[in-house]
This record gives sequence, C-alpha cells and structure tokens, in this order.
Amino acid sequence: MIRTHVLGFPRIGQQRELKAALERYWRGESTLEALETCGRELRRQHWKLQHDSGLDFVTVGDFAFYDQVLNHILMFGCEPARFAFTASQPDLVRGFAMARGVAAGAAACCPPHRVDHGGAAGAAGGQPALEMTKWFDTNYHYLVPEFARDTRFRLESARLLSEVAEAVALGHTPKVVLIGPLSFLWLGKSTEAGFDRLALLDALLPAYQVLLNRLHEAGVRWVQMDEPVLGLDLPDNWRRGFEHAYRQFEHCGVSILLASYFSPLEDNLKLACALPVSGLHIDAVRAAHEVAEVLDRLPPHRTLSLGIIDGRNIWRADLDRALALLRPALQQRQDLWVSASCSLLHVPMSLSADAALDAELASWLAGAREKLTELHILKCALSEGDDAVRFELDEARQALAARAASPRVRNREVAARIEALPADADERRSAFFHRQIRQRARLNLPAFPTTTIGSFPQTREIRAARAAYKRGELDAEAYRARMRSEIEQVVRVQERLGLDVLVHGEAERNDMVEYFGEQLSGFAFTANGWVQSYGSRCVKPPVLFGDVSRPAPMTVDWTRYAQGLTDRPMKGMLTGPVTLLQWSFVRDDQPRSTTALQIALAIRDEVVDLERAGIAVIQIDEPAIREGLPLRHAAWHAYLQWATRAFRIAASGVRDDTQIHTHMCYSEFNDILPDIAAMDADVITIETSRSDMELLQGFGHFAYPNEIGPGVYDIHSPRVPSVDDMARLMDKAAAVIPADRLWVNPDCGLKTRGWPEVHAALENMVEAARRLRARIRPHVAGMA
Ligand code: GLN
Ligand code: ZN
Repeated sequence: MIRTHVLGFPRIGQQRELKAALERYWRGESTLEALETCGRELRRQHWKLQHDSGLDFVTVGDFAFYDQVLNHILMFGCEPARFAFTASQPDLVRGFAMARGVAAGAAACCPPHRVDHGGAAGAAGGQPALEMTKWFDTNYHYLVPEFARDTRFRLESARLLSEVAEAVALGHTPKVVLIGPLSFLWLGKSTEAGFDRLALLDALLPAYQVLLNRLHEAGVRWVQMDEPVLGLDLPDNWRRGFEHAYRQFEHCGVSILLASYFSPLEDNLKLACALPVSGLHIDAVRAAHEVAEVLDRLPPHRTLSLGIIDGRNIWRADLDRALALLRPALQQRQDLWVSASCSLLHVPMSLSADAALDAELASWLAGAREKLTELHILKCALSEGDDAVRFELDEARQALAARAASPRVRNREVAARIEALPADADERRSAFFHRQIRQRARLNLPAFPTTTIGSFPQTREIRAARAAYKRGELDAEAYRARMRSEIEQVVRVQERLGLDVLVHGEAERNDMVEYFGEQLSGFAFTANGWVQSYGSRCVKPPVLFGDVSRPAPMTVDWTRYAQGLTDRPMKGMLTGPVTLLQWSFVRDDQPRSTTALQIALAIRDEVVDLERAGIAVIQIDEPAIREGLPLRHAAWHAYLQWATRAFRIAASGVRDDTQIHTHMCYSEFNDILPDIAAMDADVITIETSRSDMELLQGFGHFAYPNEIGPGVYDIHSPRVPSVDDMARLMDKAAAVIPADRLWVNPDCGLKTRGWPEVHAALENMVEAARRLRARIRPHVAGMA
C-alpha cells in the first residue's frame, strides 16, 4: 500500500496572515479570541490543501502561534520557574511571555512589551525571554527549554486535543506530530552546570504516555514522533535513552512513526531500525544513500516513510528519479509512505505564481503547495501507473530539462575563469607579519584603533527614501543625492566622535544579502517567498539559480564618495561568499562549494575595484560562516576547507598594504578558531559582549595570529554601555590577546539602533580606547 503525508506545513499563511494577527495582538489592538480565530482559519486552509492533494492524513500539531518547541514547553508544563506564572494565565499569554520576555514592571498578563534579546530585562521584576537558537541547520529559530534537576513535567494537552477535534470535525484523518522526548530534552539547555538533561527522561516519559493514550482515545491512529537528533553524533547514554523511551510507548494504543530528518542516520541507523515503533521516516534527500540499508534492516511489517521531495529547498523534484527509487521500495514493503524530507516549514508557501519571478524561473520552483502536488503525482503514478499522470509527468520533465539546458543557468565565462584559476589564488602575496608592517605604515593608526561594523541607524526617512526609489517615485538622481547626504552626515559624526577607521553607514542597503544579490547575475528575488525565521519574523531568501557573475561594480561609487569626504581611512563594506550562499535558496545542480567559489570570484573583483578606487581597508562580512557547518562532526572539515577558501579567494586579490577585515556574529566561534584563523583576514571584528568575552577563553587556548576587535558594545540592547564597562571588557581581552593586535568596536552593525543611544555609546567607546592608550602602550614598530 502506498500513502502520502507531510511532516509539517508552513503556518504563517500565504499572505503572512499569522504575522499580521500576532503583531496586532501584541500592539494591544486585538484580542486573544481574534488571534485564536486566525489560527483556526489557517489550520483549516492548510489541512484542506493537504486533503485536496490526496494526502492520506492531515498533519495536526505542527501549527504554532510562535514556535513548536515552545508549544511543547507549555504542553509538558515545564515553564522555567523564573517566570512565576499563575494557573489562571492562558497558555498563549504564558507562551508569549517566554518568547518575548517580560519588561520590568509589566504584569505578565498583559501583552508583553518587546524586550530586546540580551536586553536588561532581568532587572526589577522583568524576565528575559527564553534563549533562541537555530533549529538544526535551518534558518528557523526555536525557543530553548530550560532544564535543571528540579524541573517537573505536568501534561497540559487541551490545546493539542482541541486541534485534533477540529480536524476530525472537518472530516479529516489526523496524524499528530510531536517532538520526541529525546529530541525535546536534547534541544533544551541545562541551567545547572554539569547537569545532564537525559536524567529527566524518566520524569518526562509518563507525560508522553498519558498524552499518547489521550490521543488514542481521541481516535488518532498515527503519531509522528520527530526525533531529528538521530541525525546527530549522539553519546551512548542518549542512544540507550531511545531504547528505554520507545519500549515504554509500545502499548500506548497509537502507531508511532519515528521521524528523522536533516541528516543521515549513520551510526544511529541500526538503532532507529530496531526501535519498537510502527514505522520510520527517513530523509531520502540528504540520506539517499541510506535508503537501501534501511529497506534491508527495517522489519518488513513496519511502515517506511521516504522523504523523497526536498523539504529544505525550492527546486521542482525529478519525479522520474523519485519513481525509480520508490518502485522497487514498494515491492519490498507492505506499507510505504511518501513524503517530503522534512517539514515544509522551511520553504515558502507557494512559488509557482510569484509576482516577482518570470514565468520560466517560476516553472523551475516548488513551494509547499507545489510539493503537495508533486506528492500527489507520485502517488497516482505508483498506484495507477504513469499513464494516469502522463500530462503532469511530462510537464515536470520539460521544466527540468529547460532548467538544465538554460543559458541563464550556465555561463561559460564563469566556468572558464574557475578552470584557469591559479593554485595560489587563495593566498595573499605576503604573510600577515609583512602585511601588518605595510598596513601600519599606510594607515598610521593609533594603538587600540576604533571602528564600527558598517551600518549606522536606518532611520524611517532612509527606509522611506529607499522604498520610494524602488517604487519609481524618487528618481535616481534624487535618490543618489539623498543617500549622499546621509553618508556625509555619518562621516561627520564619526569624525566628531574621533573614530579611527570610518564607514559610510550602509544607508543604501536594505539587507546585506539582498543588496548584493540584486546586483549579481544568478540571483532572483521573490515577491512573496516568505519563510518563518522566528515568531512573527519571516525572511525572504534570494533564489540562487544560476552561475554567479558581477556585471558591474556594486559599492565602489558610494565608498569612493565617502572616502572623498574625509582624510581618515574609509572602510569598504562587502558581504562574503559564504554568507551570501547560506542565506539563499541555493541551486541543487552543482556542489555548494562550486557556487561559493563563483560568488567568491565576483566579490574578489569588487575588492580589487575598491582598492583601485583608493580604499585601504575593506571588510568582508561572514556572520553566517558557522551556520553552514554540517550536523555531523565528521563532515565539518570538508565544509570548512571550501568555505574558508572561498573567503580567501574573495580577499586575496589585493596588495599587502590593503587591510582586509572580516566580521562574525550570531554564534560562538570557539570550536572553529583555527579555521577562522585560516581565513587570514588582517583584522576580525567579532561578537563577544553578550557572553562577556566568553569567546576570549578560546583565544586563551588558541593563539589567534592576526588582529582582532572583540565587540565591546552589545548592539542588541538599547542599553548604553559606560566607559568603564567597555574598558573592563578590553582589559579582559588584553589578558589573552597581545595589546598591539586589539581593536575597539561594537559587536555588530548599528542599523537597528536609534541615533541618541548610538551616539552616546560610541562616545564612551572612543573614550574607553583613549584610556587604554594612556594605560597600556604596546611598543610595536610602525604603530603611531
Ligand atoms: N556590515 C553589516 C552591518 O553593519 C554586518 C551585519 C551583520 O553582521 N549581520 O550591518
Ligand atoms: Zn554582526
């Protein structure tokens, strides 16, 4: 028998209805009931789409107003005690308080004020939000459960059961999705040092058991238990935890489909196939090579679900290839399910009719709705034969063939350039030591030089001008004048503050990826290709569909103009190849490393053009480099090899006396310091202030060879750090990094901040640097 299903569906709505409803509620403009109505309506629509596509189940339990992990925190009653919730508070109110924090003085029963992450909310009765972190290697962020020895669980299943009832009332067959107990514990963090969250398993399992029983009583036949941690390197005791937990679910009445995704099972494959569950789902896109072994090992009476449609990317599937894999599998299994590799949460709702894409490009793409159609076609072909869907299969073949043959995708010049790339294209002309002497001679900077990360506050006026220009209401001349005056202001402010290396402020950029993607060939942008990032926040990743090249310089005019306004060095500002790759939907017809190399060459040309225009300092931002790390440790090395090489290719076209900076943030970097060093940037500015220089412990062990600016001003908080705060952080840094290699800077760009606080904070920062210079005098040749 063949059945189709999805592991999860986007919940934000085709027009981002959920975002609008959430934000209305948070602003106090609507009620909880209105929000619930919006949720119910979205679920109804999404189930209908699943049903109309011939899926055998609709998926229930994937909907969340904010985040599915947060739903589980509420469902298992393990809200951190620090929130001191009362029993009368509705679950949504408690959920939003955990997600967004509670401002000091605000009662948790009111819609909480937005608390900046890392802000000063713990003080005077406020509570900072739960930490947020990336959901595996996606750009979705979940709220991190907090676990400690005294964590207790208390089942609160009303919401889930009412969603099940909703689906049943609409005439659907629900399959309920839960995050499995091992993944739930793994994804949390221990708030007590040395506490292994696995110790909570026995306390948690009864809650699952009762829940499974209740679902059974509610008429649910199948429960999909998501255990994506099966794709990670697991310690042995956690693997034994799987056996222990799933043995206890054996007689719970429902059939359990254990779901793994995002990564091959590898050393957990035997374990996954042997667990006493009714079925197993595997990611047949990222773990295609494991399908045969799973077919062999999984007992024949068990259900196998093959995630053959890519749930992480937006390209239309090769249905013939899928059928060639599914047909033999179908002969070996009594019950074969076909699905997308993972939840469709990670792709836009629909792309086939996106207003910003031309018809040809749109015909190559598949959003969640189009993936439902693909599953439908596969099911028909498998159960009734190809002829039943001859037209659909032909149409899909044609689109695939057109994409493969398109001159928009392949650019011979790009290929030729890669072919001819000299072996040392990723090396600077001299070693850092020599470059440092030449750069010091050219730049003549003081000790502890001060700089910023690139962007200055993006005021409402700046955004309005950019939007008017895009809509054609402001002509190019007027727009240029407007941006130039903005640049001039930012330059004057920096001069007055006494910063040493200036920036032009990035007023012309809406987004650090979009700005470059729009000017490079090979990228396309959608009008409505939104993907949830966290809560009501969505991103619209570019579509990297073809060979990348740079038709014209992208930043040279703005940067040259800015440099012309001042005698101080003006830092050119670029986004690096790995970040451009990481924050896009990337073509799947060549290795990511090849695409990264193409982008690197385009950025390299920009770097060289900036140098030619007289720019002596150029920053290539790579905040996303760590995000690209594969989920399995064994694959890290290969990734880091090509990722750091792509950066070096971008950076190495310049003379020794041109100073290359890079910038990183959003993650901890201690575990990849040698690779960061291998990027060989002359200066790295890096986020550290939130973890109070925790990062620098890493530098205690690993001697970073080049110059470094550990961020001393946490730009995620509206708090203005004092001179003392920043001087103290610099003292910590100077304890592990030689003083002559230290820079003083904020830990990220300032675009989300307001002018008054930026002004005050930078004034303090410059003063902190002056005090340092007075106290510590690094004696180094070439330093002024
Ligand atoms: N140059 C960018 C800015 O200042 C860097 C942003 C980032 O690191 N995310 O905004
Ligand atoms: Zn940053």
